[in-house]
Amino acid sequence: MTPYDELTTRVREAAVLGSCAGLLGWDERTFLPPAGAEHRAAQLSLLARLVHEQSTAPRIGELLGQVEAGPLDGEQTCVVREVRRGYDRAVKVPARLVEELAKVTTLAQQAWVAARQKKDWPAFRPWLEKIVALKREEADAVGYRESPYDALLDEYEPGATAREITEVFRKLREQLTPLIEAIAGSTRRPRKDILTRDYPVEKQKDLGTTVARAIGFDFDAGRLDTTTHPFCSGIGPGDCRITTRYNSRFLNESFFGILHEAGHGLYEQGLNPAFYGLAPGTYCSLGLHESQSRFWENQVGRSRPFWDWCFPLAQERFPAALGDVAPDDFYFAINEVTPSFIRVEADEATYNLHIILRFELEQALMTGDLPVADVPAAWNEKVEKSLGLTVADDALGCLQDIHWSGGGIGYFPTYTLGNLYSAQLMEAIRRDVGDVDGRLGRGEFTDVLAWLRDKVHHAGRRESAGALCERVTGRPLSPEPLLGYLRAKYTPLYAL
Ligand code: ZN
Repeated sequence: MTPYDELTTRVREAAVLGSCAGLLGWDERTFLPPAGAEHRAAQLSLLARLVHEQSTAPRIGELLGQVEAGPLDGEQTCVVREVRRGYDRAVKVPARLVEELAKVTTLAQQAWVAARQKKDWPAFRPWLEKIVALKREEADAVGYRESPYDALLDEYEPGATAREITEVFRKLREQLTPLIEAIAGSTRRPRKDILTRDYPVEKQKDLGTTVARAIGFDFDAGRLDTTTHPFCSGIGPGDCRITTRYNSRFLNESFFGILHEAGHGLYEQGLNPAFYGLAPGTYCSLGLHESQSRFWENQVGRSRPFWDWCFPLAQERFPAALGDVAPDDFYFAINEVTPSFIRVEADEATYNLHIILRFELEQALMTGDLPVADVPAAWNEKVEKSLGLTVADDALGCLQDIHWSGGGIGYFPTYTLGNLYSAQLMEAIRRDVGDVDGRLGRGEFTDVLAWLRDKVHHAGRRESAGALCERVTGRPLSPEPLLGYLRAKYTPLYAL
């Protein structure tokens, strides 16, 4: 066996082992009986340790050294580069720190659940202090050129820097704010009651499944189940599982939730199985992953042409709720813009202000400019300034998201990067595929998906998300496509 073959065999084995943990994780959040939670935690922590041992084995380091010295073709260079990136990161972080982080974040998540419920920031504060200190240690161990935040960001968005993101986000906010203000000043308002009528759960499931299948989600290689906090889990080739939750008095939650997760699922199903576990068969970045979910949820699912095709399907299933509703009223209702406290309930425009706020606070936490004790005050001030709202309690403010309690500092920007990439990809699809609105209106998604498969899914992690975006759309990531898309949507709806 050549050193390259031995290296890739070991890396793939670690990926297979990791996917076993993925399957147990999916089961934990869907079907696991409550009494099995403790044993499941033991299973998952054993697997995590085995995966870590396999990926940091000294033999991997030796093989990397040998392989890097020899001639490599383009594909191999990309494979080896990513193994090196993961290996360096894994061995630089001391085992003591990995264990400490795992222990602290498990307890911190439990503390966060209780603190959010009781609106009790002081109960969560010491946990966040511990986590910020540990994440700073992690950043120092991994190393960075400019900002400690970059070391954390690199785990989710390889190659991206806080400086670049700050610049794109600044331009986005500069133009987004006046648009949101203009909408607030409009006298037009949608009929929201349309969405909170009686929507039987079985029919919601039927509609969601029908639409997921229509956009290309392969149910022979995936499934849809129910959970509390929906997610998509790509277990491996031929097995991608999406989840949702149903509210019989609110259609949006499951409908757009399923489209969102099916978008993630299409990306997973589009990865090249021949490169399973290796960079060319791995998703590019979390930002690009999110672009796929936002693409189908928003760029497609919240567009007017899509509802030319989908509205009759919805009316058929919900005659009592939608029988007397005009498609245009429905379309306005699913596109309402209104500043709100909770990020996950935010509309397509104000959502990004929620992310920018978190991105700024996280950076200040990492540099030490913002002491953890001052987080609620800083949070509330930013909400007041960017959304014009007064935060009444921390459950509606800095305690609302799970991310920090799990150690996920550096994750938030990938959501808005996803929105930006999705709009820029749609612009390129309109240029390359053509007649996109006509296709959506007829429920024809094949050519749009084929473009994404070819340009995004099959590319895997051969380059950074920024480089991929520039190559397939013809220009570096810019806030303009998203801003243009939002203006084009809201100008007629709100008569701006
Ligand atoms: Zn997502």
